[in-house]
Amino acid sequence: MPPKSLHISEYTVGWLCAIEEECYAASGMLDFRHSDPYPAPTDQNDYMYGEICSHNVVIVKLPTGHTGKAGASRTAVLFSESFPTIKIYLFVGIGGGMPWNSFENKPIHLGDVVVASPTRTGLPAIVYIIDQPITQLVIAVDRVARRYNLGDSPFHDHLKLLSPENLARQGVKYNLDKFNRPDSKYDILFGPKSKHHNGDDCSGCARSDIARQSPPSDRNPEFHRGPIASGDSVIQSGEERDRLSEKYKGAICFEMEAAGVMFETHCLVIRGISDYADAHKGYKWHNYAAATAAAFARQLLYDMPTTKKLEAKRLSAQPVTARASSSLRTPLPIAEAPDSGLINDPEEVPASSAQLSNSANTTGVSAPVVAWPLAPPTPPEGQKLPRLYKRDDKY
Ligand SMILES: [Zn+2]
Repeated sequence: MPPKSLHISEYTVGWLCAIEEECYAASGMLDFRHSDPYPAPTDQNDYMYGEICSHNVVIVKLPTGHTGKAGASRTAVLFSESFPTIKIYLFVGIGGGMPWNSFENKPIHLGDVVVASPTRTGLPAIVYIIDQPITQLVIAVDRVARRYNLGDSPFHDHLKLLSPENLARQGVKYNLDKFNRPDSKYDILFGPKSKHHNGDDCSGCARSDIARQSPPSDRNPEFHRGPIASGDSVIQSGEERDRLSEKYKGAICFEMEAAGVMFETHCLVIRGISDYADAHKGYKWHNYAAATAAAFARQLLYDMPTTKKLEAKRLSAQPVTARASSSLRTPLPIAEAPDSGLINDPEEVPASSAQLSNSANTTGVSAPVVAWPLAPPTPPEGQKLPRLYKRDDKY
């Protein structure tokens, strides 16, 4: 059966990615693929269409060689003009990470996922500019993190969608094991002043510079919420990383595109950590980090009711029932998916989400947008900035 085609106005979720690996990971998260909508968009962006948990999703990749804030901004402008009914924007990909999350007091490792979130002390989600995702998304992120921490999340099932077996079943032609987790021995944190010598695996780099042991080989990705710094250049220096984190409100992740998109859309920025933004920055973890970020985005859509289901809920005029005791749902491989029907049972819409129904599309935070360079951070009145990672910390 050929993929179905929807009217362009039926798409409500926009998923942006910057590089090819991120785009492949995104397409692997789709329950179904759609053919081009009608009428077709007339801009020059290259779109993919599909469905995740009853959300109709448009995926767009920045043009090759046009990454960075300018390329992201151009793509986002065309995207939002061609799809005016999109209500949720996700910017999903990889980024460099700080070794330590001062806001949640836990280490950050390669393959972990950082979601740009306002902090408890009121600091914004994106620094260099000040901006926030819509409240609906912030609430959904909190829900995803809570479910994951309570062991009630199918996140790992989402990751399996990118397993070699599943990709082969879909007829994928590229390197099937590209999204596998690299061995933990390649998760090496060097001191901020350490110099890289040679090899993508740092085999020629000074062992005496190593600042933290590699994590266990069976370590699962952690989620982190905190500010992401979006700048104009790649950070490849541990000292510069630490300086910027200290200057820009304790940012725990660094990337180069979000600021360009945030001017156009209040999107949620999701980054898999592919390196420590230091001199040893390499490519070994790129694909796995892209996969964990994409799986998080899919989980987010799993946990967000669609407008259609919220409306059905409201019309049912019945009390919201408790969530089913087991919310683990096995994602359908694309090859086996039916051609229609909802995956989520409307009765499983959590009460907290149902309460958003009246404001789901209109809860944009009216945070100011300020062009960087930003003034030094000022904590909210009566509050202190969280303790920042220090250069001489032992992680
Ligand atoms: Zn190295």
